[in-house]
Amino acid sequence: MAIRELKICLLGDTGVGKSSIVCRFVQDQFDHNISPTIGASFLTKTVPCGNELHKFLIWDTAGQERFHSLAPMYYRGSAAAVVVYDITKLDSFQTLKKWVKELKEYGPEDIVVAIAGNKTDLGDIREVPMKEAKEFAESIAAIFIETSAKSAINVEELFKKISRQIPPLD
Ligand code: GDP
Repeated sequence: MAIRELKICLLGDTGVGKSSIVCRFVQDQFDHNISPTIGASFLTKTVPCGNELHKFLIWDTAGQERFHSLAPMYYRGSAAAVVVYDITKLDSFQTLKKWVKELKEYGPEDIVVAIAGNKTDLGDIREVPMKEAKEFAESIAAIFIETSAKSAINVEELFKKISRQIPPLD
């Protein structure tokens, strides 16, 4: 089976759970005290997809998002970008639109974009209606999913959806 290396970058405000999503996906773990600087700056995981194996090379921002702009090298060569917001923080959804704009401006033309609303385990204090986020995702032809890195909900599914959207080499 052919192995394809696919660079995936994660975007979104500090604290939305980017490192936690990667940690859940790659190591199936959740750490309350995950360090924002150490975090998961570069991790890999290989998953089957049709007749191929997708080796995800996952780049976390490692705190660079604090500067509200990222080096274009961060997006360069990415097959997909996961843009994360926190469903309990309306602000994080509003700035998500800014991240998407930056991505459209500087990212590769054919990049697969996935929007992930994280922390669904905190549904009691939800601030971002799912419908609104879903409609925004549809308007930019992005994948949409709500996740919980803490409760291991939909994290694997998020990456499966990305895999399915990447055209096979045939
Ligand atoms: P990042 O700055 O976007 O990489 O965010 P982190 O992964 O460092 O997470 C920020 C904080 O949110 C940490 O305290 C995590 O434990 C917490 N967190 C991340 N994902 C979840 C989740 O799905 N549910 C809950 N309740 N907390 C989460």
